[in-house]
Amino acid sequence: MRPWFGPEEAEAAAEAVRSGWVAQGPRVAAFEEAFAGWIGAADAVAVSSCTAALHLALTVAGVGPGDEVVVPSLSFIATANAVRYVGASPVFADVDPATGNLTPATVRAVRTAATRAVILVDQGGVPADLDAMRALCDPSGIVVIEDAACAAGSTLRGRPAGAGAAFATYSFHPRKLLTCGEGGMVTVDRPEVGARLRRLREHGMSVSAADRDAADRRGGAPVLESYDELGFNYRMTDVQAAIGLVQLGRLPEMVARRRELADAYRLLLAGVPGLRLVGDPVDAEGTAYGETNHQACWVLLEPGFPVARDAMLGRLAAAGISARRGIMAAHLEPAYADVAHGPLPATETLTRESLILPLFHEMTEVQQNRVAAEFYAAAGVAAPDGTEART
Ligand SMILES: *Cc1c(COP(=O)(O)O)cnc(C)c1O
Repeated sequence: MRPWFGPEEAEAAAEAVRSGWVAQGPRVAAFEEAFAGWIGAADAVAVSSCTAALHLALTVAGVGPGDEVVVPSLSFIATANAVRYVGASPVFADVDPATGNLTPATVRAVRTAATRAVILVDQGGVPADLDAMRALCDPSGIVVIEDAACAAGSTLRGRPAGAGAAFATYSFHPRKLLTCGEGGMVTVDRPEVGARLRRLREHGMSVSAADRDAADRRGGAPVLESYDELGFNYRMTDVQAAIGLVQLGRLPEMVARRRELADAYRLLLAGVPGLRLVGDPVDAEGTAYGETNHQACWVLLEPGFPVARDAMLGRLAAAGISARRGIMAAHLEPAYADVAHGPLPATETLTRESLILPLFHEMTEVQQNRVAAEFYAAAGVAAPDGTEART
């Protein structure tokens, strides 16, 4: 992964610095408005990270000690950590091996009377089926929070991933498509929820610093803030928001380019036995119901592929190619060794036998051919004409 920046991002950041207002202010408000409009959400609240966004979403959803929250173990660890921040217990559910995402069946298998929420992750950008999950959860009052950290630019049934969720959370870390260094966003489906999130991200203040400044400029009586509940400092800076606004405008182009590169990998790697490349999610009839932004372009090494995952990563590294292990599984990490769980076979297969291919905006055909050539060589199969010749 490499962030894709142009001179516009540098200029936007410089302009924020020159303005003298660098903390949360007018650019954060503009970024929130643009983001909410783009998702089609009632409101969007910018925060310091997606982890902070998950913490606030769980807090506002009223999740706390004694509650269980169903999460995929197959996710970046922040998904499970956020559940512990509010004193609730993470319960690990398995995933669909095709998408890496929770399904109604895997959630039903672990749901109990104590289940208060489900964190539905769009893993690696592949949109999870929010509609199906809500059909399961809404009747019993279980809140579905969509961890769309990876999914800005993905779509579900033609709508942006996260649209329609009570809470959807996004990350702007450089590992994701849209980046401003660090940062996150929560989108919500009800405006009054946005107001509470805004207070909680800024120490629980009843009136933000930016609003007090605006009141001073209008003249009249000074506005005094009060602190009505425990809050946090989860603010985004105006420097970040200035960059984020430019990046949001680039998002359609970023997604189109990544999908083009992923399609090229699919063609290039088609002749390698035992290799499966992640793609758009499909229903039982084989019809795609969403589009991934290919934030992570992972391949599963199936039994027909003769080289083990870690050995393959080693081969790629020796060839100067930077790949990564597949998505982690929290239940295999020491921090979660104390959490009891049922069998998680798809999670364990995906985490142990998948790897993430290099993919970045400026990647060339020659570079993709070099990656493909390593897979053909590892499989002991002749590469199609042209693949090796162009390396
Ligand atoms: C990256 C990621 C996060 C954490 O995002 P930060 O902005 O780094 O806090 C959370 N969940 C998932 C699924 C992620 O991929």
